[in-house]
Amino acid sequence: MNQANKNDKSRRKFLQKLGVAGASAVAGSALLLQGCSDSNKSSGNKVKVLTADNKLVEVDVAHLKPGDKIQDLSYLQERGREGIPGKKFVMVVDLAKCKNARKCMKACQSAHQLKPEMHHLNVLEMEDPVRDTSYWMPKTCQHCDNPPCVSVCPVDATFKRQDGIVLIDNERCIGCRFCVAACPYSARTFNWTEPKNSEEFAEVTYDMELNVPQKKGTVTKCAFSADRVREGKLPYCVSACPNGVYYFGDQNEDLVTNGTTKKTVRLSALLDNNAAYTLMPELGTKPSVYYLPPRESKG
Ligand code: SF4
Ligand code: SF4
Repeated sequence: MNQANKNDKSRRKFLQKLGVAGASAVAGSALLLQGCSDSNKSSGNKVKVLTADNKLVEVDVAHLKPGDKIQDLSYLQERGREGIPGKKFVMVVDLAKCKNARKCMKACQSAHQLKPEMHHLNVLEMEDPVRDTSYWMPKTCQHCDNPPCVSVCPVDATFKRQDGIVLIDNERCIGCRFCVAACPYSARTFNWTEPKNSEEFAEVTYDMELNVPQKKGTVTKCAFSADRVREGKLPYCVSACPNGVYYFGDQNEDLVTNGTTKKTVRLSALLDNNAAYTLMPELGTKPSVYYLPPRESKG
């Protein structure tokens, strides 16, 4: 079944539910709202939906129009596991440019319903003994090609997609934290308490690509902004950086785009010309995140 047919089928299912039982029937369904009808009539039945730019809004069901893209949990789970055919997503982090602005961290936390103390992405201060100084290193999930976190999961809740992105389905996660222990990069974190604004998100259907709503008792981590890359956009963190630190793109095309300058360059040349490296290569995890050393970058 192609994507358009899936969307149509999902939308029809949703509209059938509305017709039968009104808004109460849509608790547990989510909408990615493209726009609302301009009808002035209201039904009084309200539903919480995510807008196309991931803002949570409440709308009257009478204001939904047939063109609205409707998504339900099973559709989001199926799509989230498939990934995007033909792609192999990679990130390049230019350490010479990081000034600890932390805009990337804030954008990430805002997009993924994270409390200030929870991180999918953290900017760490690192010692540089060679230059007798320190530098800032943004660190996130490395989206390993050989991810030890995936093989230890007893319920197939975490997995690697064909496009290289490692995701978690928190509807399947049982919170055993085997994956947290297995990750050598400390990239996973656990929802020990109720997530931020959990009441507001209570009726929103889980989208594993956006990784929202967060759920107490489950593990969470960077998703390489799988929801954004599906739309052909750069990840939240990459777009938010004011200092040109992040590049993101497709290894298969050998192209990456800088989130600040929007300049697209050859991945292979960027890596070769700047002595790029990956974290802990000796482990054989094969990260999809490359670092350019903390010196004047030629990129
Ligand atoms: S960095 Fe950790 S969580 Fe991310 S894919 Fe690798 S092992 Fe898994
Ligand atoms: S915490 Fe969740 S994702 Fe991690 S290994 Fe256990 S079930 Fe799998």
